[in-house]
Amino acid sequence: LGRHKDDRRQSGFTYNGVTFDQSGLNIFAGLCAVDVPEHVEQMMQALEENGQVCTRMGAYKPRTNPYSFQGHGKGCLPWVFEKAGKHGIKVIAMEITHESHIEEIDHCLEQLGRPTGVMLQVGTRNTQNFELLKAIGRQTTYPVLLKRGFGITLNESLNAAEYLASEGNANVIFCLRGMKTEAGQPHRNMVDFAHVPAVKRLTRMPVCVDPSHSVGSRERAPDGVLDVMHATAQGVIAGANMVLVDFHPKPEKALVDGPQALLMDELPAYLEDIQLCHDTW
Ligand code: PEP
Repeated sequence: LGRHKDDRRQSGFTYNGVTFDQSGLNIFAGLCAVDVPEHVEQMMQALEENGQVCTRMGAYKPRTNPYSFQGHGKGCLPWVFEKAGKHGIKVIAMEITHESHIEEIDHCLEQLGRPTGVMLQVGTRNTQNFELLKAIGRQTTYPVLLKRGFGITLNESLNAAEYLASEGNANVIFCLRGMKTEAGQPHRNMVDFAHVPAVKRLTRMPVCVDPSHSVGSRERAPDGVLDVMHATAQGVIAGANMVLVDFHPKPEKALVDGPQALLMDELPAYLEDIQLCHDTW
């Protein structure tokens, strides 16, 4: 990924017809956690109506509390993938927390005739799960979205990306998602999107920002704009190539992170504002 002295490979890649590099912009709006088919359908339909071909859908959820909803796991994959195919979604960012999930995803996609593609997401709690990274690195079918570890240095997180590349998979996107602060106030995490250009300077990876998990709420600035939108704009203006953002048709019913989800009718303006930031800068 550009951090090894002998590494001269090109930046960026194309997967399932979608190109990811250090100059483009791909939006992955979707559900933090898959809950019921109706919500997945509404989300994917809205994406299709707004010309989107990527989404985020959480099936395997890493939770801090063992008694919280842990995601539907492989049980929801068939209907999520079928709905994605129906609505022209080409890439779903989906977190995995164990290497066996790669096989589950692969098996399901194969059985359905690959109606969509999957980008394997490694969450902030697993950034230094080196055995998981090595297992994901050994498979070269799916690109990887690696989140920055929320309590380690940037350098340590960038080295984690090398675990994927050194095992054979260099189709990696690096995601900034905020750093833990003591009180978690005023935002859930300290927004770190000023590091977008630093990551692009230090590596060849396209850089993603996750304003939802950084901000963690639907608070608004005095100008009336949602903090999630302000953070998104900061990230895109700083040069982000991908945005991972939570939406939900009924946030009050969401099983994970409802309070930070944007509403379906906010999608068109959100997409328009992002494009404006990208085109202007
Ligand atoms: C997520 O994107 O669903 C998630 C849990 O993010 P993070 O790993 O950044 O907390």
